[in-house]
Amino acid sequence: MSDFYTDFARLFEENGLGEFVSRETSEKFELLARKLEETNEKFNLTAITDREGIIIKHFADSVFPSGQLAEGADVIDVGAGAGFPSLPLAVVRPDLRITSLDSTAKKLGFVAEAARELGLNNVTTLISRAEDAGRSAEHREKYDAVISRAVAALPVLSELCLPLVKKKGLFIAMKGPSAFDEAKEAESVITLLGGDKAAFADYTLKNGGANENRILVLVTKKQFTPTKYPRNYSQIAKAAKKAKYEDARRRFT
Ligand code: SAM
Repeated sequence: MSDFYTDFARLFEENGLGEFVSRETSEKFELLARKLEETNEKFNLTAITDREGIIIKHFADSVFPSGQLAEGADVIDVGAGAGFPSLPLAVVRPDLRITSLDSTAKKLGFVAEAARELGLNNVTTLISRAEDAGRSAEHREKYDAVISRAVAALPVLSELCLPLVKKKGLFIAMKGPSAFDEAKEAESVITLLGGDKAAFADYTLKNGGANENRILVLVTKKQFTPTKYPRNYSQIAKAAKKAKYEDARRRFT
């Protein structure tokens, strides 16, 4: 069996991420993979458990948005779970200041411990619901960039994330091929919350012949978010559901 370092270098090179392979990043990613595997045996952190899956679907996927983040940016990862994309981004971009937010303390316990063991002093954890953080003076409109992966469909996710973005800052939703449909459905809520028209950046996760397409939805904040948002979660989800239903009715009547 090949060792972690060989697999990591090969898969990052194959995915055009060779610039992020160094002795230091290899050691940090090896430690993170080991810690993820060990902790996952005790409690369920991730469904992706094979080494190549961890390197491609967690590490490489998390690193791809790096090009969208300005030097020294203050970034919050909404619904970070076990630290994706926050931890890999913190490894390859020591200039960023990253807050990993999640409502689950146990997962953030893992993130904090991993950050400490990897020597990542650019990661802070925040146990909170995103909508609570979005209403607090400490976090509302305080971040240069808000990033989120695998948390909610865009009409809901926009209300969780956009209130945290500074004016002129960026909201990045990491999505699969559903991105375009989700962005259409979220168009009116994004405008309401102060976001500009969505742009898209796509990339492919590669492993041998197996390719998976990923799309970043990029929304720049051009206006402050009206103070009545974010609402509480049940109202957000209900409004998104209703909007979808009404859109569907408009299309067929
Ligand atoms: N982003 C990670 C990843 O891609 O591996 C974790 C994804 S996991 C499927 C979704 C995470 O979002 C969970 O850890 C959950 O606790 C968190 N989450 C969902 N809604 C949230 C909310 N409103 N506020 C804070 N965290 C939330």
